Amino acid sequence: MSGIDEIAKVDPEIAQVIRDELYRLRHKIELIASENFPSRAVLETAGTVLTNKYAEGYPGHRWYGGCEFVDVAEELAVARAKSLFEAEHANVQPHAGAQANTAVYFCALQPGDAILGMEKTAGGHLTHGTAANISGALYDAHFYSLNRETEMLDFGEIAEVARNCRPKLIIAGGSSYPRDIDFAAFRAVADEVGAMLMVDMAHFAGLVAGKVHTDPVPYAEFVTTTTHKTLRGPRGGMILCRERFAQSLDHAVFPGVQGGPLMHIIAAKAVALKEASQPEFAAYASQIVKNSRALAAALQERDLRLVSGGTDTHLLLVDLRPLGLTGDNVEEALDAVKITANKNNIPFDDKPPAITSGIRLGTPAVTTRGMREAEMVEIADLIALVVKNMGSQEVMRRVRERVEELLAGFPLYPDL
Ligand code: PLP
Repeated sequence: MSGIDEIAKVDPEIAQVIRDELYRLRHKIELIASENFPSRAVLETAGTVLTNKYAEGYPGHRWYGGCEFVDVAEELAVARAKSLFEAEHANVQPHAGAQANTAVYFCALQPGDAILGMEKTAGGHLTHGTAANISGALYDAHFYSLNRETEMLDFGEIAEVARNCRPKLIIAGGSSYPRDIDFAAFRAVADEVGAMLMVDMAHFAGLVAGKVHTDPVPYAEFVTTTTHKTLRGPRGGMILCRERFAQSLDHAVFPGVQGGPLMHIIAAKAVALKEASQPEFAAYASQIVKNSRALAAALQERDLRLVSGGTDTHLLLVDLRPLGLTGDNVEEALDAVKITANKNNIPFDDKPPAITSGIRLGTPAVTTRGMREAEMVEIADLIALVVKNMGSQEVMRRVRERVEELLAGFPLYPDL
């Protein structure tokens, strides 16, 4: 009897939600750049009795008895994170990426201190100083943007903004920047203005693990990440830092911004980190980028404009303005042909976030499914057909058929 059947005995409605979601995942092309399909081992670990345990504190120093086994899980996760990323210290307790970032701010800053992050429409994240987020409410947030011509980071401009606002912390990394990042250049700016550097590698952590993206660890005091994007682990967060911040960072996570850690998720992070240290994972990371480049080239051959002219990572941003379209409409049209992606602001976008002038595409999930460059060309063809024939029921019907044919060759979680 499967786990879902067991759930159905108690709660048929939720069992149906799970079946429906599994069906959706199997029958749509997943191009959301921040999503992935973790292994069965990761999924199973996340659904175990380890969820029952209260373990406030850290291994060997808990506020509850009975932690001898969950301690082993957390020690393994920490050791594997340190070894994989060659970090001096790791904290694997953040429940998610937002909490990881908040904990770093709580550790490194006082309320009112100046911080400098990437503007959200340029690719930055909500937690890098946006007014609606605690990072913008508690700290004096400043932003750098991108070069208008190249749509890439411009260290001349970043240095100028930093000289003007004198931040205590500079934040590098984001959610929709398709290019590799020169962390040495960020370090130089931070050193010039006497700032600390935090790199949020949530999106590209798996590429760093697979050595196909510049490694931020040697350059930054703090490196934060999610564990569920390119790293292909359970939904969660993690922080790496220099040894001199180890104690204060741990204190900032618990009791600073969190209570009891999610031990089932920490154990699942340990499993994912073990997987990420294997040679197969490096091959996976490298294929993500090859696929992303192949998708980019095939879209460009079909006359779609990409922000910055391409990609070095797992994601790319299509500028829909030349087609006279908006992100919300294209997201909906793609969904109707079983392609899942998300609307996204592009640099210097004049459309609000609920509309946007762009669509963000990513290859981590389709690469996990086993797709390679040839399938990326097929996907680019399907996307181009949709955006050039908006509203044509006949084109939508043909594209849906081709999506089904394509997915049939790449089964997902066949034994779930
Ligand atoms: N940092 C970056 C760069 C992200 O892209 C995200 C999520 O999209 C986060 C932080 C927040 O992660 P979470 O959704 O796990 O809180």
